[in-house]
Amino acid sequence: MEPRQAQLSFSNTEIAFKHKSDAELRKASILFKSFDYPVLLRWGPALAKIALSLGLKGFIKSTIFSQFCGGEDITDCEKAIQQLSKDRVGTILDYSVEGADDEQSFNETTHEIIETIKKAKSNANTPFSVFKVTGIVESDLLEKVASGKPLDASDRGKWEHARKRFFDICNTAKELQVRLFIDAEESWLQDAIDGLAVEAMQTCNQEKAIIYNTLQMYRHDRLEYLKQQYSQQKCYLGFKIVRGAYMEKERLRAQELGYQDPIQKTKEDTDHDYDEAIHFCLNHIDRISVCVGTHNEKSSHLAATLMQQKDLDNEDSRVYFSQLLGMSDHISYNLAHHGYCVAKYVPYGPVKAVIPYLTRRAQENSGMAGQMGRELGLITQEIKRRKNLSK
Ligand SMILES: Cc1cc2nc3c(=O)[nH]c(=O)nc-3n(C[C@H](O)[C@H](O)[C@H](O)COP(=O)(O)OP(=O)(O)OC[C@H]3O[C@@H](n4cnc5c(N)ncnc54)[C@H](O)[C@@H]3O)c2cc1C
Repeated sequence: MEPRQAQLSFSNTEIAFKHKSDAELRKASILFKSFDYPVLLRWGPALAKIALSLGLKGFIKSTIFSQFCGGEDITDCEKAIQQLSKDRVGTILDYSVEGADDEQSFNETTHEIIETIKKAKSNANTPFSVFKVTGIVESDLLEKVASGKPLDASDRGKWEHARKRFFDICNTAKELQVRLFIDAEESWLQDAIDGLAVEAMQTCNQEKAIIYNTLQMYRHDRLEYLKQQYSQQKCYLGFKIVRGAYMEKERLRAQELGYQDPIQKTKEDTDHDYDEAIHFCLNHIDRISVCVGTHNEKSSHLAATLMQQKDLDNEDSRVYFSQLLGMSDHISYNLAHHGYCVAKYVPYGPVKAVIPYLTRRAQENSGMAGQMGRELGLITQEIKRRKNLSK
């Protein structure tokens, strides 16, 4: 670990990719280059399904799946957990199966999330667990609850079951003292998720932050919400601060249904509120624990600098930094190298079920009109650095 005074820099690709062999780097480079082919991006999900039906699961597993996922089940993720821990990077097991929409699947997902909490309890290298409420509750039902309209008898029954699943997960986290993130989702579902999260914080966060809700700072109302929560709640608070993943969908729906767009007008506005939220949490660190969930270098740097200014130890676990597996290793590994608390989301699930997740990662990493994507640029830089060394 570097001494505190050493300058934190995210441009050190040697630290960022120390865990990757030359062959692994080349493989990652080919993969990220392939995201620049619009045809592959467009037809990727369909091609992946065809490849699976032709028995080519091994190909998908050894390429895009191994870049962004830890394995098909918790045991399968052990290697990724160990690999990350060698460089002081923690793992947040993220059960990434999407599209469950019946009670049996919701119960199975609940069971799986509880297993990740148990795993986190038994392994010091998995400091958090995480889940999406839409993995255990029908989106339509969440939307109805979020709208505030009364539920009919059938929906009331379903909501009771959903709440039971939700609190089974949160209470397990409390009992085992494992910190738990609740992911943020679409704005029309979020009031229902926030309501559950506030209840869970009130019961589980009396002594410290166990339950963390997520705030999407691309919403123009979230900074105010954060401040409101701080003044209204008396318990400890946990917040994962992100920019938000559903911008296009949000804007489109607002336009189609004719209500005010919940998203900030510009990227600068989102960045401004993101950084303000970091300031606010760190100014109230006695009661707010925070996870800086971002691939943005400036915001990550800001949080690290504010910690120093406030004389917080780099390893103070009330401030965590988090990125997704296979992305922004230059941020994760350089922060960890300087002693900050860092953990990667490590998605897992059967190959077929995580294809929507993999598709989103591919789209996010496609460069714009001949411009090299952020990840590919870093990988290329490290390959060159190693070549120059061996000359
Ligand atoms: C550990 C972790 C956990 C996450 N959990 C969640 C979660 O629970 N819920 C969720 O929704 N997302 C989540 N995300 C995804 C996250 O919201 C972002 O989509 C993603 O990280 C990209 O944003 P960034 O902060 O890395 O920075 P950047 O790459 O600097 O910012 C890109 C983001 O800025 C915003 N933006 C872009 N253009 C505009 C514009 N014109 N106007 C306004 N805003 C704009 C969008 O949110 C866009 O995704 C998570 C990400 C990480 C790393």
